[in-house]
Amino acid sequence: MGSDGDLAYEALIQFMYRAPVALIQLQQDGDIEMLNPMASRLLMPLARDADLSNLFRVLEAYAPDLPALCAAFGAPQGVICEGKRMVVDHATVLALGLLKIDQQRLMAVLVDASHEVDREQRLLASAARVDTLTQLPNRAGALALLQQMTVRARAAADDHCAVVLINIDRFAHINDAHGIEVGNQVIALVAERLRATLRTASRTGQAVAAGVGTGSGAGAGAEIATRIGGDEFAIVLDGLRDGDTGALVAARLLERLGLPYRVGAHELTFSFSLGMVTLDAGTRDADDLLRHAAIAVAVAKAQGGNRLVRFAQHMRDEVLQRGCLEADLRLAVEREELFNLYQPVVGLLADGAIDPGAGVEALVRWRHPVRGMVGPVEFIGIAESTGLIDQLGEQVLARACHDFMDWQRQLGPRAPQLMAVNLSRAQLVQPDFCGKVAGILAASGMPAPALQLEITESLAAQGADIQQQLHGLKQLGVKLALDDFGTGYSSLSSLHLLPVDTVKIDRSFVTLAATSRHHQVLIEATVMVAHSLGMNTVAEGIETAEQAAVACAQGCNKGQGYLYSRPLDSLALQQWLQRQA
Ligand code: C2E
Ligand code: MG
Ligand code: MG
Repeated sequence: MGSDGDLAYEALIQFMYRAPVALIQLQQDGDIEMLNPMASRLLMPLARDADLSNLFRVLEAYAPDLPALCAAFGAPQGVICEGKRMVVDHATVLALGLLKIDQQRLMAVLVDASHEVDREQRLLASAARVDTLTQLPNRAGALALLQQMTVRARAAADDHCAVVLINIDRFAHINDAHGIEVGNQVIALVAERLRATLRTASRTGQAVAAGVGTGSGAGAGAEIATRIGGDEFAIVLDGLRDGDTGALVAARLLERLGLPYRVGAHELTFSFSLGMVTLDAGTRDADDLLRHAAIAVAVAKAQGGNRLVRFAQHMRDEVLQRGCLEADLRLAVEREELFNLYQPVVGLLADGAIDPGAGVEALVRWRHPVRGMVGPVEFIGIAESTGLIDQLGEQVLARACHDFMDWQRQLGPRAPQLMAVNLSRAQLVQPDFCGKVAGILAASGMPAPALQLEITESLAAQGADIQQQLHGLKQLGVKLALDDFGTGYSSLSSLHLLPVDTVKIDRSFVTLAATSRHHQVLIEATVMVAHSLGMNTVAEGIETAEQAAVACAQGCNKGQGYLYSRPLDSLALQQWLQRQA
């Protein structure tokens, strides 16, 4: 017939036939439908009675879990395993990849990984240098490889070496949520993925990573994955042709690592932070390399993870400084040395007057013994990345509720009617966050509707779990506000999807509103949409009477800013309220 379809099929068969890797098409139960010559060559020595009819049977002695693995794979298609190693005899190791094509068929790819293993093993003179979970070189092994590399590179002046350090983002969370067992599986799968990726990088070699090499043994042209700690891997790239090649390999790793993993019945996706350092005059020994790569990883994490950062000297100084701050902050949280200031949020009345008792916003502060007053912009990020935020956030909330109730007793009808407290992302992902808020409300006697929790725009727009948490908070009766509106992701058109009562228009808009018609229109539109959805609006950062007039004219319900008051401690706030009467 000679249609295009037939020609394509013919080409596919030709490709399969000649391919230098073993390709096997099989059914769900392992029955082989088609295999290429390379496949028979690799499988024949393993088959009993030269029977190649069922792949699972042929591999039974080496990978007994294959049928179970396939049966557990629920998705209609996808990767069941990749680079699964099978030790056939002392000299032969095969790596198997299994792909589910549709409900009936699987495709298997088999490669002889003996030389790979051989190379790894020769490089690792002793078993003390191998990680048992992943069979990758461990930290000692990695250091030995790096040491060899630095010595060799010093002799060969014109080639390039690099280390890429890889860390799974929020791995502690994976362990907490799914258990250590799953955590270990994830580590093993990541190790497989690394091997598979480096293998393709070297095979397509010249194209992807010119010169990264198919080399055997240590030395120029080696690319070796190692596991140097819990969820931390180091890729040793030795003998690169130029400085950019390493970045290409790293970019490819970042991309491939981010693809989904099949863990038991679940398909999980993780993000990774990669730090890369190239060997140069500033980093001459193995320890230096790892240290600098770790700094680049820390920077990648601080920028939100899921990215590759190349080390630069200035990062070192910054991290040193931050490291001190981190230790100090831990102490300060433990000793409850942080405290709250409160900034009035006033009602904007139609006649230009204000209602001073509309509410306040709690803003956390830290008086550092040496640095003096440190603002939240500097330390909230650190608290988030170190897990201190939960404790810190609870302290802020508990203190705010306590002070609020205190004012009710002291000031009666003049006391603020609403207490706004800021939340960060890390707090919202705690499974029992709603329970904690309920507990704090109960302990202080604070009525839930008097509490307003503020989340930033970018946070509210995120995943289903956050949405669910927000609805849980609403059920407690507390109010929610969208902070810094206009700076994040959500747009006016998606405002109705968020379970918030109040929209706080970011200071940057308010500042420009008095002079920029464009910003005035934006505020006006925001107020209109918010009001049509039954939401309140607050103009943030009002500093001048002119800005207040604009906010008022645009119909904002409330205003907050230095024009009315800076953030004050509890006593000063009470005095301010008394003065407004
Ligand atoms: P935010 O929630 O938008 O708080 C308003 C910020 O604007 C405060 O800065 C406040 O002092 C400042 N501000 C208020 N009026 C004016 C004004 O007229 N002019 C200018 N230039 N600034 C004004 P602050 O206290 O430095 O807090 C910064 C951010 O840190 C807050 O922004 C909030 O997102 C976060 N934050 C503060 N306290 C906490 C907390 O307890 N937990 C969490 N997770 N984040 C907090
Ligand atoms: Mg706020
Ligand atoms: Mg704000």
